[in-house]
Amino acid sequence: MSLSQLARSICESPTLKLNETAALLRDKGEPVIHLGGGEPKSKAPIDAIVSCCSLLQTGDVKYTPADGIPSLKKAIIRYTEEHYDRLVAPENVIASSGAKQSLMVLLHAILDPKEEVIFPAPYWVSYPEMVKLAGGVPIPVTARDGGFEPTVEEMAEAVGAYTKAIVLNSPNNPSGVVYSDGFIAGVVELCEKRNLYLVMDDTYNRLIFDGRTPTNCYRFAQVHNLDSSKLVVINCVSKMYAMTGFRIGWAIGAKDLIRAMTNIQSQQTSGPAAPSQWAAAGALNGVQSSIESLRLTLENNRNVMMTRLGAFNGVKVVKPGGTFYCFPDFSAYERDSQKLSRLLLDKVRVVTVPGREFGREGHLRLSFCGTVKEITEGIDRIKWALDPGAPNELYLGGRRLVRDWR
Ligand code: PMP
Repeated sequence: MSLSQLARSICESPTLKLNETAALLRDKGEPVIHLGGGEPKSKAPIDAIVSCCSLLQTGDVKYTPADGIPSLKKAIIRYTEEHYDRLVAPENVIASSGAKQSLMVLLHAILDPKEEVIFPAPYWVSYPEMVKLAGGVPIPVTARDGGFEPTVEEMAEAVGAYTKAIVLNSPNNPSGVVYSDGFIAGVVELCEKRNLYLVMDDTYNRLIFDGRTPTNCYRFAQVHNLDSSKLVVINCVSKMYAMTGFRIGWAIGAKDLIRAMTNIQSQQTSGPAAPSQWAAAGALNGVQSSIESLRLTLENNRNVMMTRLGAFNGVKVVKPGGTFYCFPDFSAYERDSQKLSRLLLDKVRVVTVPGREFGREGHLRLSFCGTVKEITEGIDRIKWALDPGAPNELYLGGRRLVRDWR
């Protein structure tokens, strides 16, 4: 088949692929434990559902403005004022079909061919592919100390004549690390000095633990007028309201940039689906207790995951400060993360995501967005599969397994 160079250069989303694999195995009755997932188990807030249904009941479901319905934009403006202490205009806001689309139209709006976008590694799997889709070149920066937060100097060293933007995602998918204020402030300053776009992907910034408060990047900016600033903040209802399937995200940025992004979105998909926009507005305007309840559940799950992993000799893990992921180092058992992930799926039916997809070999991304039972049983199965000191037998969904590979 004749496919474009671009199509041939883009990889399938490994996380979505794993969801499919897990669903297929479950359909066959396999006792799969999914520690690879990227969405909370809780239901969407009732205010989202009521608002969505009120539109559906009219039967009048039509195209919307390409940048989103005014009531959703108003709700986003209020959210931004409350959580970022910035009063922005409707022209500074675009609502898209998920944070993914906001990021994608942003990259299309700012990148010329071969321009570079820098981001720390480990990184969210989609950043390199999205940058390539927009004709750019992804430049991951790995901390020399082997940790999950590079220094500002390491980020600065990656900046060159072709650099157009830096993307920061804190708390970070996959490491769960909340970048230090010093690092974020330093990168804000670097971008202002070098006239680069700084994209803050704040998808998880309300899902943080241990009494942390969400980092507000505007606090560190010297350029206070948003319309002359190259700071862009991305958010979505997907994770904090457990509304992944609604596909609503947004970007806040300079008016000229948002106009360009809107033009691209208007040609690409038009406005996001109307029922989803009504649902997102309902969530943003409604009772907010579901976020705290999700956050508390995740913090408890994180603690369970850390205790369980702590009993695992040879596995090194950094305690996540947020998100619902952790990124343990399994290289004492196996350096090839794809091989390890495959082994765990084949032998003990636990889904994990190989660290290689996030730019770091020897690690696996484990999610703790499921139930405590899934976490404990999942880690116990992994331990059984890898630890030569574990008993030789395991019962999996009534089936007796004998370990014959270690
Ligand atoms: N950014 C990050 C860091 C993510 O992890 C995700 C979802 N996995 C997104 C953006 C995309 O969010 P959405 O589902 O709203 O497109």
